[in-house]
Amino acid sequence: MALRLTIWGCRGSVPAPARDTVEYGGNTSCVEVMLGDDEALVLDAGTGIRALGLDLARRGIQRVHLFLTHLHLDHLEGLRFFAPLWDAQVTLEIWGPRSPVLSLRERILRAFSPPLFPLDFRDVPARVVFHDLPAEPWRSNGVTLASDLVLHPGPTLGFRLESGSSSVAYLPDHEPALTGIDRRSLDWISGSAIAGGADVVLHDAQYLEEEYESRIGWGHSSVDAAVAFYRAVDAGRLVLFHHEPDRSDRELEALHERACELAGRDRPPPVLAREGMSIELE
Ligand SMILES: [Zn+2]
Ligand SMILES: [Zn+2]
Repeated sequence: MALRLTIWGCRGSVPAPARDTVEYGGNTSCVEVMLGDDEALVLDAGTGIRALGLDLARRGIQRVHLFLTHLHLDHLEGLRFFAPLWDAQVTLEIWGPRSPVLSLRERILRAFSPPLFPLDFRDVPARVVFHDLPAEPWRSNGVTLASDLVLHPGPTLGFRLESGSSSVAYLPDHEPALTGIDRRSLDWISGSAIAGGADVVLHDAQYLEEEYESRIGWGHSSVDAAVAFYRAVDAGRLVLFHHEPDRSDRELEALHERACELAGRDRPPPVLAREGMSIELE
């Protein structure tokens, strides 16, 4: 079975709707992985999940598997406005990183209580089941999803999806440069277990090289670190993801040009993630 993904949101940190962000999109992280006609597989619940939810309702999908890389607001704030959550016919399974402090359910429920939101989670009509990660790889409809903890503030996961001989890695928030990328053996590089040899890697590329110096430890990658990671894990294609909210479409294209320069000619040029973009692998 082919692996097919659709990007519903690829902005980092906070939604950035504006005239000059309309081409690459202002919604925060959300990616759908096609699973057949009866179920949906969704990565992250940024504001991109709102439009996806309406689409799932139109398609009559009543079983949704939502995998959260972590619970920073830009990956969670769309959940309250996800149409399937407000449909009693729907079963929603939510998977997210385990924390030693509070359960996944308790941490997500904080977003469903006053003063942040007028409704309580008890008002949610869908049947919701929570699961901790990392766990054994998850499988459905020929698609396998594996998770591993990666470098980012708070418990944060990267996901690797496989179907047949195709593989995609999803690492929207990731700062592998913090412990080093160049001249490290692969098993010392954060995220390498997720992205190693993947056909496509969607990776954090929030900053320009000159911006990174004042943002070390914030959990994100500069464009040169994203390309260094792409080379180190020997992935087939890099998709630059988690765009800085202040970056206009034209500025993103300049960042993209820099990424292509850094990637060199010996591997496919990186591409910019864009809302509405589909990625299809045989
Ligand atoms: Zn984020
Ligand atoms: Zn984050």
